[in-house]
Amino acid sequence: MNRGAVNRIIPFSSVDGPGNRTAIFLQGCNLNCLYCHNPETINQCSDCGRCVETCPAEALKHQAGKVQWNEESCTHCHECLKTCNLNSTPRVKFMTVEEILEELKKLQAFISGITVSGGECTLQIPFLVELFREIKKLGLSIYVDTNASVPLWKEKEFLSLVDQFMVDLKSIDSEEHKMLTGVDCDVVLENIKHLAIRDQLYEIRTVIVPEVLDNQRNVEQTSKLIATLNPDIRYKLIKYRSLGVRGDLINTSSPTDEEMKRLGEVAYSNGCHQVILI
Ligand code: SF4
Ligand code: SF4
Repeated sequence: MNRGAVNRIIPFSSVDGPGNRTAIFLQGCNLNCLYCHNPETINQCSDCGRCVETCPAEALKHQAGKVQWNEESCTHCHECLKTCNLNSTPRVKFMTVEEILEELKKLQAFISGITVSGGECTLQIPFLVELFREIKKLGLSIYVDTNASVPLWKEKEFLSLVDQFMVDLKSIDSEEHKMLTGVDCDVVLENIKHLAIRDQLYEIRTVIVPEVLDNQRNVEQTSKLIATLNPDIRYKLIKYRSLGVRGDLINTSSPTDEEMKRLGEVAYSNGCHQVILI
């Protein structure tokens, strides 16, 4: 039976797409962004057992070469995340479609849909296709939050099951994207064009990082691209914040409110109808 590696499920979220949504975060990412705010979602656990000793609640055990997590004993102190040097977590659940559906059925009356995020959720497309087929039967809308580094235009059934995508365009310049994430942005841009043509692109997001990225160029060129594709696609500009990031990889400050406002005005003046600053 196909199981998904689930980092966590947030029953009610108002920041992961329109309305009240259940957000499902999958474990595992193919990028390694300098400013990643959840680095523990990048890799699958290797079961090395290092974190077991540091758990103050005895919620972890190392048995038969596998680390086992007891959710009921866990106090969510995050000590295991501090110990892990693999950018992973022992608190991943390998869930079947039926197990996730059981959770969703309890919430169904209170939500308008679900959003799947990560990590990078599109690394688990076969599992998502099985899950989405069933979620559709519940009448819930399906949004996908992605770094768009997997060629989504090849995934016909997956695309047909998703209502809308929210895509990170970390930099519109390939060299800069590679410096930040480890890969260029060619596939990301191709995905953006395909999703816009299919009218499945709800939002493009860019994190504004002073001193590290050419923020002026990114906003200038990305907003022009959005205005050409469909000016009603939301363009979200996110203020870099240092909380949760790996200080040994990046050391810079947050942009000022004035700078965010100025960049927002650049996007509006280039034709974007919906610019969101957060
Ligand atoms: S967060 Fe990690 S270290 Fe803390 S109680 Fe839970 S399993 Fe143990
Ligand atoms: S979470 Fe990290 S430290 Fe703990 S067992 Fe897995 S790889 Fe080892």
